[in-house]
Amino acid sequence: MLTRYIFITGGVVSSLGKGITTASIAALLEACNLKVNLMKLDPYINVDPGTISPKQHGEVYITEDGYEADLDFGYYERFSNVKMTSLNNLTTGKIYSEILNNERNGFYLGETVQIVPHITNFIKKYIINIGKGYDVVLVEVGGTVGDIESLPFLESIRQMSLGKFKNYVFYIHLTLVPYLKYVNEYKTKPTQHSVKILLSNGIQPDMLICRSDYKLSYKDCCKISLFCNVSRKAIISLYNVNSIYEIPSLLSSQGLDIYISNYLGFKKLKAKLCKWDKIIYLEKSIKEEVFIGLVGKYINYPDSYKSVLEALKNAGLKNNLSVKVNMISSQKLKNLGDLKILSSLNGILIPGGFGYRGVEGKILVAKYARENNIPYLGICLGMQVAIIEFSRNVLGFTDANSTEFSPNCSYPIIAMINEWGENKRDYDYFFSKKNKMGYMRLGLEKCFLVKNTLAYDIYKSNFILERHRHKYEVNNFLLPELKKSGELNISGFSIRNTYNKLFNFVEIIELINHPWFIACQFHPEFSSTPFLSHPLFDSFIKASYTYKLNNNLTVNKV
Ligand code: GLN
Repeated sequence: MLTRYIFITGGVVSSLGKGITTASIAALLEACNLKVNLMKLDPYINVDPGTISPKQHGEVYITEDGYEADLDFGYYERFSNVKMTSLNNLTTGKIYSEILNNERNGFYLGETVQIVPHITNFIKKYIINIGKGYDVVLVEVGGTVGDIESLPFLESIRQMSLGKFKNYVFYIHLTLVPYLKYVNEYKTKPTQHSVKILLSNGIQPDMLICRSDYKLSYKDCCKISLFCNVSRKAIISLYNVNSIYEIPSLLSSQGLDIYISNYLGFKKLKAKLCKWDKIIYLEKSIKEEVFIGLVGKYINYPDSYKSVLEALKNAGLKNNLSVKVNMISSQKLKNLGDLKILSSLNGILIPGGFGYRGVEGKILVAKYARENNIPYLGICLGMQVAIIEFSRNVLGFTDANSTEFSPNCSYPIIAMINEWGENKRDYDYFFSKKNKMGYMRLGLEKCFLVKNTLAYDIYKSNFILERHRHKYEVNNFLLPELKKSGELNISGFSIRNTYNKLFNFVEIIELINHPWFIACQFHPEFSSTPFLSHPLFDSFIKASYTYKLNNNLTVNKV
């Protein structure tokens, strides 16, 4: 049977939630028992989003195979059962680097290499390959129609409706229907114009998903249907809801699953949404709150911490608690007086990060959490700052630091392995200064857990698999001092053959005389879903709630 393709484009404005919508449709189709895959076409020239600032692009989501992906991949994995890989993302950068490479290798000898057909054929072939073995592939086209750079993608998906896939492609366009207060009306004109742009690219949408504040009236839907030449049943009103977990059932309640499955020749399939209903029920029955401080430097860009925020929410659901997150700017924390803001919190989380800005503030926070017995979860950089703090204030190495922040510090407790100590030269090649990206440890790795530790208690397993994204490691040469203190446990470690040498890497640390202080080098947030929250987050939220009860905290909402 031929694979079906659903293409999702966006119009009018960006940030309409195309990723969540695509993920929700995937969830619906999976709930119809179809085998679904997802992919994203990104028009930017970066080869992958790994080098784009979180301010511009939100978090970098890491897949199991170590791909630095767009944050939409996070929604895809949290909403569906599909595991994304580097293959599921095609960027203009990837296409051009491959085509140019082919050209230099004489692949197209004699031909003039052009956008049509060379680039478009490349894209089509790529999309077709991704579909092998699946019933349906959802293909999200990044950007907004009308952008110059998305033209080759639109042309390619148009061409997909020719030939053997003729009746097996479905085009969804997500648009905005704004409400004008002073005339008390929803305005459909931007949607009409957006569809015109799509038509000028040769694509007639089969379905319009209209974003609006409130549900669109029957009349508005009929008008959009008439002017945009789309069946009335395929005009879906995606209005604001309290929780993103309500979106799959909202779409289903308007017949999206039946319409698409019928159109694509699967007979009329209706999604069974019990597991989503359960999540909505759980969310609505929450009565108590827990207050977590998230200390980072991009607090005005919450998308930079999307997976962390989702993982906290998921753990809240599991514990029947609503997790209220107080985003705290690490740069503003300069001395003890600034830490007053932490006193009303039930738990503190320091997420991953790069660069020195705000690091000293994070070190102060780690100290505060350690000394005041507040539950602390450190992730990646959050583990590194906890270790620096411990080395400075418990072990007394006042110059302890990471070589990322102080390359010549006298106690480099966090450093790249070529900076650890002896044998420096062996690794120099891999850390060439010319290469700005340097070496980065990426993707899923095995971590062994040590018995009789909190981490072992939480995971209840001898080993775990978690995702990584970092350059620096705890310095093995300075490890004995850390262990000697008797106050810190290394409760998780990995063993790796790195450049022909076997190394142990510190993966999890915990404080012995503290109710709940765990920090890990990996990123647990990427593997949490609303259906299966992550054990570390679960346990952290539970401990934070216990802290709240024990300390009788009244909390000022922020
Ligand atoms: N900057 C640190 C490193 O590269 C931590 C990275 C992270 O938190 N993801 O090791």
